[in-house]
Amino acid sequence: MGESTSRTDAPSDQQTQPLNPDRWRSDFPILAKQIHKLPLVYLDNAATTQKPRQVLAAMDELYESKYANVHRGIHVLSEESTDLFEAARDTVCRLLGGISREEVIFTRGTTEAINLVARSWGDKNITEDDEILLTEMEHHANIVPWQQLAARTGASIRWIPITDDGHLDLEAFNTMLSPRTKLVAVTAVSNVLGTINPIEQIITTAHAAGALVLIDAAQSIPHTPTDVRVWDADFVAFGGHKMLGPTGIGVLYGKRQLLESMPPFVGGGGMIRRVRKEGFEAADLPDKFEAGTPPFVEAVGLAAAIDYLQSVGLESIADYEQQLATLAIDRLSAIEGVDIFGPPAAERAGIVSFQIEGVHAHDVAQILDRYGIAIRAGHHCAMPLHLRLGAPATARASFYFYNTPAEIEALAEAIEETQKVFRKNRKK
Ligand code: PLP
Repeated sequence: MGESTSRTDAPSDQQTQPLNPDRWRSDFPILAKQIHKLPLVYLDNAATTQKPRQVLAAMDELYESKYANVHRGIHVLSEESTDLFEAARDTVCRLLGGISREEVIFTRGTTEAINLVARSWGDKNITEDDEILLTEMEHHANIVPWQQLAARTGASIRWIPITDDGHLDLEAFNTMLSPRTKLVAVTAVSNVLGTINPIEQIITTAHAAGALVLIDAAQSIPHTPTDVRVWDADFVAFGGHKMLGPTGIGVLYGKRQLLESMPPFVGGGGMIRRVRKEGFEAADLPDKFEAGTPPFVEAVGLAAAIDYLQSVGLESIADYEQQLATLAIDRLSAIEGVDIFGPPAAERAGIVSFQIEGVHAHDVAQILDRYGIAIRAGHHCAMPLHLRLGAPATARASFYFYNTPAEIEALAEAIEETQKVFRKNRKK
């Protein structure tokens, strides 16, 4: 439905093509930027990704020639905006494996999507007798909403431990499941360790115990093909800005019968069928969960980003990023005094967190910045994980398909230079 924007034609992901980053880099204006007179090496993709011209153009086109509020006006501009917004929903349906439009709720991001489930499904279904299972590797976005729910209801939170090599301890998980377990909320990919969790296995096991499963897919859907029905996930949350799209847009997928049974989260315009002085009647899905003016320009930007990613090929992206991770781990682990966290490269996505002996992670990031290299340092919104790792902070390099092997070499050389600076300072 709707009319198409100037998006890249999207061939399917059927065949895995070897990926050549240079074919795509010129679409990203920011990648040509110089930092401290050196070429930008952008390795902070787990925090957010850069935007290709196609995404910016799709949003500009809407603002310049089709912009009016959606769903409300009976005039041409409003219809054009509405068509584009709803076409964006169709694009998300295809990305997730052909789900129905009622199962795609646009939110402001992953965080809001998880909060929606905690507030709406959680408040209705969770009691003080219940347990929610989280893992030690969750992002705060998949911890705090459940802690808030537990505080409201008296429910308990239990933590699935990780092994020393950064995998989930699945044996422990099996023993923790019980009739009290109502929800398992787990990340598909750790934003610190890069661990790729066995989502299908976790969901099958949880369902056999009668629990629902929410997947935080913020770090997986941007990087690999996903079919939420093959997963059999009950809820899946992800955001636009980590997948070439704009900020302020995210998606909650929920199984239709679950979403239908849940009360609205935010109240206001757009989510009602009728309002009277005595009360209101909620609209059908998906509007029921989209109160207020939705981020429709951002949704159109997200759709353009999805089209772009599919033209690159998500399977190729996953393969290529694993090659980059392998290269980074091989090169960095050969540097004395560099400790890498997480599983072997073959079992992880393109995220490599590390520590340099005797150098605080913030100093590492600051010195790398002098070489034009952007990484992140800190707890990466995963404080319980850092406590488990015994490291208050780590430095994190995270890759996307536009990164190159030469950039990883630049990272390694800059780390070696950082060590030299600190050794010299210690001798003084
Ligand atoms: N979950 C994970 C695993 C993340 O890495 C992030 C962002 O860093 C989030 C959730 C929060 O995502 P958003 O910015 O879309 O709310």
